[in-house]
Amino acid sequence: MVYKVGVNLGDRSYDILISEGLMEQCAQYISPLLNRPRVAVITDENVGGLHLGTLVEALSASGIYSDTLTLPSGEATKSWLYLSQSVEWLIKKKIERHDVVVALGGGVIGDLVGFAAAILRRGIRFVQIPTSLLAQVDSSVGGKTGINVPQGKNLIGAFHQPSLVLADISALCTLKARDFLAGYGEVIKYGLLGNADFFEWLEANGPALAQGDVKKRAEAVRVSCQMKADIVARDEKEQGNRALLNLGHTFCHALETATDYSDRLLHGEGVAIGCALAFDLSARMGLCAQEHPSRLRAHLKAMGMKKDLIDIKGDLPSAEALLDLMGQDKKVVDGKLRFILATDIGKSFLTSDVDKSTVTEVLKHSLSMRS
Ligand code: NAD
Repeated sequence: MVYKVGVNLGDRSYDILISEGLMEQCAQYISPLLNRPRVAVITDENVGGLHLGTLVEALSASGIYSDTLTLPSGEATKSWLYLSQSVEWLIKKKIERHDVVVALGGGVIGDLVGFAAAILRRGIRFVQIPTSLLAQVDSSVGGKTGINVPQGKNLIGAFHQPSLVLADISALCTLKARDFLAGYGEVIKYGLLGNADFFEWLEANGPALAQGDVKKRAEAVRVSCQMKADIVARDEKEQGNRALLNLGHTFCHALETATDYSDRLLHGEGVAIGCALAFDLSARMGLCAQEHPSRLRAHLKAMGMKKDLIDIKGDLPSAEALLDLMGQDKKVVDGKLRFILATDIGKSFLTSDVDKSTVTEVLKHSLSMRS
């Protein structure tokens, strides 16, 4: 069964296909996009070693020739260095304006290759084949592409929508458990921000999904993609409700900076902790009941995930210093922090009306649990 989720953006609309074994069947979906039977595929070392052969063979069996480039794995690849390397390689391989580039990998490859496609010859088409859970439910959908610079994450980039997303659920089998659970942090986020029934479904099915249940994984990816597609179709350039997708992210970005983007904290782990802190803040402000952050933490615990600052190894800055780091977030407007808060599981809203001292109290409480 192949699920199809449409992203409706006028002449930039595209489909997200979700199923097992999509890489083996990719030619039938990619062929209609091609002007000539060739593509350029960019991947990373981990994914390349595990999945590139399957993809290239499947394309070749249908007469499609692939040029391939394999980059190092890891966040550091989302940089000027590998952007210029990728773009120059595409030019060297004579990839033309009407050709298609394929991004095979996690969010790092998707963001980098999407950006390379956005700027090469003023924009060529690209196909996302996301292989991490995070990329399947989040980064491959919606057209945000870009790289990091020393001054901050994702500061250079462009909106450039893919022409097709192929989320092959089988690829998730080779993900490390920690990477899978980090992606699950983004899955939970969808339930929390706008779909209480989905959160309830995750409470019941999350453990089986983590154990490898492919049908449940496909269902979680389908619901997440549908929610993101609906939000992006209403607000492609984040002028309004798309910001709800940032639930937990103001806290997360400060924690990622505090841990130097190291493997002390993966992005999705920071999102899960950030969501718990956003619910703490909402409860402390009297917006939601205390049982909501408790219910969220119970689910994170059942999944074996990080749920509090105490779970991050090593020292963290003080609450005041963390608040200061939150002030560097690119979503700050006129010096005011913006938060996604909640009145219930599945009911979130954007606000700048938050007293900084209440945020400090939430952080202090969470930090004090360390002793
Ligand atoms: P990633 O691409 O670094 O992948 C995580 C690790 O898993 C890497 O080591 C990778 O090589 C490996 N991997 C990926 N697929 C695998 C597979 N099937 N089998 C084995 N190993 C595999 O990171 P990520 O978590 O996928 O994505 C994080 C990035 O996504 C960040 O740069 C973040 O900024 C970005 N992001 C972008 C958006 C967006 O809207 N564009 C949204 C969320 C996150």
